[in-house]
Amino acid sequence: MPTKRITSCLAGGQHWQKIALTFFSSELLQMWRHLKHQAPGTSERKFVETLSEISKTSNRCATIDRKLFGLASRQYDHLLYLLNTEINGRELFKCLACGTCPLAIHVDGNMKLYRWLSALGVDVPSLFADAGIVDTIKFLNFVAKINAAKIPCGSSSKDSCGSAKYKAGKEDSSHKKALAETGIVFCSCRHGVLWRAVDMDKGESYRHILYLHDFALQQKFNFFCYDVVCKYWPFAKDVGRKLETEDFQKHTKEMIPFLSRFHGKTHTMFCQLLYGGHWMTGAASTTGETTEQTNSKMSRYGSTTKHMSNPNRRDHLTDAMIYWNQGKECGMAKQLAKFYNAALDDSVRYDKEFEKQKQTWLEETKRQLHEAREKLSKAQQAMDEIPYKLKKLLQIKSPAKKLRDFAVVQSNKL
Ligand SMILES: [Zn+2]
Ligand SMILES: [Zn+2]
Repeated sequence: MPTKRITSCLAGGQHWQKIALTFFSSELLQMWRHLKHQAPGTSERKFVETLSEISKTSNRCATIDRKLFGLASRQYDHLLYLLNTEINGRELFKCLACGTCPLAIHVDGNMKLYRWLSALGVDVPSLFADAGIVDTIKFLNFVAKINAAKIPCGSSSKDSCGSAKYKAGKEDSSHKKALAETGIVFCSCRHGVLWRAVDMDKGESYRHILYLHDFALQQKFNFFCYDVVCKYWPFAKDVGRKLETEDFQKHTKEMIPFLSRFHGKTHTMFCQLLYGGHWMTGAASTTGETTEQTNSKMSRYGSTTKHMSNPNRRDHLTDAMIYWNQGKECGMAKQLAKFYNAALDDSVRYDKEFEKQKQTWLEETKRQLHEAREKLSKAQQAMDEIPYKLKKLLQIKSPAKKLRDFAVVQSNKL
């Protein structure tokens, strides 16, 4: 039975009324959905123009209305989402492999998914609303709560660790001219499934990260992976101390900071020792870099989404997240088997490396011990010779006496 939302979407949806007199084949909308996500950045305008050209060559009138096609496509994507969630009861933003005990979440911003301030589009509210990408009002309320405890410093200087500077690492950030949205911060688990995202109307700041940190805590994640976790963690602790009305101390007490492995190489040595995830107990072979992979795909949507209206862009990217997650889910069994075999290989390799390293350390220690013993025996020998040498020294007449005797001899000669 269709649920209330689906029935209202089909029967009473205001946008269906607009397109009621135009018919679109569901096969065509399905094909367009696959095409726009398989080849992100494909222009909807060009797709419709291509269809029109086919109509012309077949001696038909090219009558497809691009705006109506866009609306129908959005409605189709949303209807699929409702069918999946409300009829099939699926959770499209959760990972089956993580289950109820997710281990690690990685947060990273994507600055290529910006949107021009001048971009216009069909003024239709977002259909996906808070699914996938957090609702703007909800996020602003969260930021207001944080700002009540931690007043924004107004500076947008980049944090640095060692010789490297990090764009992401900022307590606060500033608006960018000509841009309505500057990007999106995504988070994904260690299997590469996207769980949540937050839109940025300014550059990436610790407030965006804290929102996703809060989300990760609610989902019971254990490790919080971030490229600049060494700088972010004190900020989160500070908010926990100052925000007395809310229990924000849990964020840093119940979760473990994890410096992403490859980004961690650019941090200072002590930072790598404190936060580096390679040897953390229970971290297994987590790299804390999975959102880099999702970002490489999501960035490709930027060439089209930068020209869309805000709701259209949100719906397009939310559906892109769903499409990505469904692809991940389909390949999960194969991927997990691959991970398992890699983990077994790693375990054998690490054991061998450890044995080799142990042997090297043992040989080095033996060599050092031998050298120390040799030095000790030489020192002992020298110590043994001391009384004899002292005796010899005592037998030697003092130079002063020698000089006096010489003077006496010389004076006698005169
Ligand atoms: Zn997972
Ligand atoms: Zn650091």
